[in-house]
Amino acid sequence: MTIAVSYGVGRHPFLTEQAKRLFIDGQWVEAASGKTFQTFNPSTGEALAMIAEGDGVDIDRAVSAARRALSGPWAKFKPFERQNLLLRLADLIDTHFDELAALDALDMGAPISRGREGRLRVVGMLRYYAGQATALHGETIENSLPGQFFSFTLKEPIGVVGAIIPWNGPLKSAIWKIGPALATGCTVVLKAAEEACLSPLRIAELCQEAGVPPGVVNVITGYGETAGAALAAHLDVDKVAFTGSHLTGQKIIQASAGNLKRLSLELGGKSPDIVFADADLDKAVPGAAMAVFANSGQVCSAGTRLFVEQPIYEEFTQRVATFGKALRVGNGSDPTTQIGPLVSAEQLDRVTGYMALGRREGARPLSGGERLTQGDLARGYFVAPTVFADVTDGMRIAQEEIFGPVISAIPFTDMDEVTQRANATPFGLGSGVWTRDVGKAHRMARSIRAGSVWVNCYQAMDPAVPFGGYKMSGYGREGGKQHVEEFLNVKTVWIRTD
Ligand code: ADP
Repeated sequence: MTIAVSYGVGRHPFLTEQAKRLFIDGQWVEAASGKTFQTFNPSTGEALAMIAEGDGVDIDRAVSAARRALSGPWAKFKPFERQNLLLRLADLIDTHFDELAALDALDMGAPISRGREGRLRVVGMLRYYAGQATALHGETIENSLPGQFFSFTLKEPIGVVGAIIPWNGPLKSAIWKIGPALATGCTVVLKAAEEACLSPLRIAELCQEAGVPPGVVNVITGYGETAGAALAAHLDVDKVAFTGSHLTGQKIIQASAGNLKRLSLELGGKSPDIVFADADLDKAVPGAAMAVFANSGQVCSAGTRLFVEQPIYEEFTQRVATFGKALRVGNGSDPTTQIGPLVSAEQLDRVTGYMALGRREGARPLSGGERLTQGDLARGYFVAPTVFADVTDGMRIAQEEIFGPVISAIPFTDMDEVTQRANATPFGLGSGVWTRDVGKAHRMARSIRAGSVWVNCYQAMDPAVPFGGYKMSGYGREGGKQHVEEFLNVKTVWIRTD
C-alpha cells in the first residue's frame, strides 16, 4: 500500500478563531445555552473548530423563524424567482466548490480528490432543482359528473422541513435537502451532524449571499440526542427529511408521531454486489473494490457483501485485495490521497472491532484487517482497505453495517441461489451485478429487492434519477421528480359548475 504522509495543511479561511455560530432567521447567533463543542481533523487528530452547541431552544427559534418566513416575502416568490435564486446559489457553490470540498476533507476526512468529483451531485443537483421550480403542476382530473363538477389538484409547499443530515457527505446531504425545499417554496431547519458542521455552515453563508430571504434556510449545529431529537419531535415541523442510521431513523419515526409529520428516511444498508464468472473482470475488480473502499466505506449504499461466482472466487477476491493494497491511504487534504481516514476515534473503534470479529468468526483476511499507524498516519483514524474471504452468510460481518472499508467476500454457485441470499437481509438500498449476459442482467435487476441496482457499475448517480431504499433502508426518494413531490402537498379543488 502506498501511504501519503506529511501533508501540511494551511489554516482554511473559514476557520477563524471565533466559534462557529448558528444561522437562524438570517442572523449568525450563539447557541441559547452559550455552549460550544470542539471538532477534530480525523486525518491528524488535531483540534479543528469550536462549534455552537444548539439544542431544543435553538431549534424552537429556528422553527419559528422558518414558520414566519413561509408567510413572508418568500411566499410571494414566483416559480421563476425561486428558479433564479437556486441558479444563483448553484453558481456560488460552483465558484466555491473546491473550498467546500476542502472543508469536508478537514472536517470528516473525505479525500479532496473525491470531493471534487462530486460536482454533478451538488451543483448539478441544484441546477436540476432550479428547473423543477418552474415545472411543478397539479392535474385536471376527469370526474364522472362532468356537467356538474370540475376537479383539479394544486401542489403546495409542505411547509417547514426539518432536515437532519449525517457526516459522511455533509456538502451533498445539505444540498439534497435545501435544493428541493427551495424549489418547492418550503422553508428549512437543517441540523448538521456534530462530526461535520463546516460545509453546511458555509452553505448557509452562500445562501445569504445568493439572496435567500431570512428564515427560509436555517442551520443548527448540535448533538443528535438534543437538537436532532427536538427537531424530529417539533409540533410545528411539517416534514422531516432524514439521512443516517436505521436506529436513528426508528427514533425519528417515534418522535414524529406527535403531529404525524411526513417523513423521508434514507438509511443504511448491507448491499450485495454480485460478480458472475462471465463478467468483464478488468472492470469488475476496481468497480467492486471502490464500491466499498470509496470514502473509506462510509457510504450507506456501499456494496459490502461481495458475492462472487465459485469458478472465479479465488482469483477475483485476490485481485480485489491487490487493488485495495495499492490504494493511497492518507490525509484527506492531500490531493493524491485516494482513501482518507475514518471520521472519528469512535468510528475507528467500531471498524477495527469488526475487523477483529471477522477473524474470530473464521473469515480469512486477504488484505488489510487493521489500523494503519505508520508515520503520520498514527495521528489520524486510518484503517487499511480490507478484504475478508471465506465469509458465510450467517457471520456478523456479513449481516451488520460496518461503515468502514471492509469487504465480506462470499462464494455462490447459481443465479437463483445468489438472488435469494442477496435478498436475505433486512436492508435494501444499493446492489450491484457484474455480467456480460444482458438477459441475466435484466433478470437480476427485477429480482433484487433494493432501491438501486447498478449493472456493470456501482454508485452511478444523477440529479434526475431517484435514489432511496427498500425495507429497512428507508422510504422516500432523493433525486428526480419524486424527490420534489415529497416536499409538496396535494390539494384537491372541486368546483360546482351546473
Ligand atoms: P451515524 O451513525 O452515521 O452518525 P446517525 O443516524 O447517528 O448516523 O446520525 C445522523 C444524524 O442524525 C446526525 O445529524 C445526528 O446528530 C442525528 N441524530 C442522532 N440521534 C438523533 C435522534 N435521536 N434524533 C434526531 N436526530 C438524531
